[in-house]
Amino acid sequence: MPVRVDSGRRVETIGEHLDRCGFSRREFLEFCTKLMVAAPFGLALTNKVEAAEVAREVAKARRPSVIWLHFQECTGCTETLLRTSKPDLAELLLHLVSVDYHETLMAAAGKDAEEALHAAMAENAGKYVLVVEGALPRRDNGIYMKIANKTGLQMLDEVSKQAAAIIAIGSCASWGGIPSADPNPTDAVGVAAVLKTSKPLINIPGCPPNPYNLLGTVLQYATAGTLPALDELNRPKFAYDRYIHDHCPRRPHFDAGRFAPQFGVDGHREGWCLYKLGCKGPVTRAGCSTRHFNEVPDVWPIGIGAPCFGCTEQQIAFRVPMFQTVPIHDAKPPDTYAPISAPQGVVSPAATAVAGLVVGAMVGAGWVASRKLGPPSEPDSEREPKKE
Ligand code: SF4
Ligand code: SF4
Repeated sequence: MPVRVDSGRRVETIGEHLDRCGFSRREFLEFCTKLMVAAPFGLALTNKVEAAEVAREVAKARRPSVIWLHFQECTGCTETLLRTSKPDLAELLLHLVSVDYHETLMAAAGKDAEEALHAAMAENAGKYVLVVEGALPRRDNGIYMKIANKTGLQMLDEVSKQAAAIIAIGSCASWGGIPSADPNPTDAVGVAAVLKTSKPLINIPGCPPNPYNLLGTVLQYATAGTLPALDELNRPKFAYDRYIHDHCPRRPHFDAGRFAPQFGVDGHREGWCLYKLGCKGPVTRAGCSTRHFNEVPDVWPIGIGAPCFGCTEQQIAFRVPMFQTVPIHDAKPPDTYAPISAPQGVVSPAATAVAGLVVGAMVGAGWVASRKLGPPSEPDSEREPKKE
């Protein structure tokens, strides 16, 4: 069930604000289509009419106040919000929400920045969304991360008390991420482990996360005064309800038992499955395979030939070695993807034997696919790179 939160006093609407700042309706409509903000509203964006419907709802809403804190992190989550392929779109994003405090984006520094934080908290008490980027070190009372002589733990405590809701953006804030990787010298943890308030907490993990997931969540709050339904790890279901493996363009090759044996060889370049190279897609829930990054088609890890490393899962990224293979829980091929054919029209036992290594995959997808494709001729997944 969505969580109800207070909506606050009457201020300029998003539509009024965009008009005043000179954004065209076409740009806004394009945003509503591309960013798929319809997902949290329970709408399926399949045509302009539905995008227009979402645009109407968003335009009527007030711009939500956002206070953004940085702790132990690399600022990659902020970068991903700003790195759209179109500068106009990046600008539009920052006009949809009122970012009232953000250490990377604001011009103020030192005492002025501190005053800006307290002014933003006072003006929007009980109504702002607190976005936390980065992990919090707990060792020695958190002294390994201090801003303005306050530890991260103290800052989180102070700012979260008056927030309407808290969003942990990125894997670091969600459950520790890179700073918490073994041996975790500062005892870094995610927000949930140290948050003292009972305010709603939403995790938007990813390294970096897709910015559309953040905007979709914040805009649902602005538009409907609710927060999206969450899964058992507090992630919005609209963005983390599917395995990468189930919507991966390389999946037909998995099912056919064609695995890229190494980077840069023919199979890798031809789009074969990256499972043997350590792909964590079979155990990772995220929307990367369907919502690409930077508004550029195929810009996501597997799209550019890198295995998924499981950054949206608490127990995978920074815990399981990069090239270690993972168990396959559900080897059933999905119902919907284009039919496939092996390069030589057949798939060999050597290729399908890889699926046999998979825990629990006695009836592996590769085996099923290989039966469909007929008897073997020569090994293909282990094929050597072509001699130039
Ligand atoms: S989650 Fe990844 S991208 Fe985001 S701050 Fe942490 S290390 Fe950087
Ligand atoms: S193992 Fe990885 S590359 Fe292969 S189909 Fe699954 S998600 Fe795609």
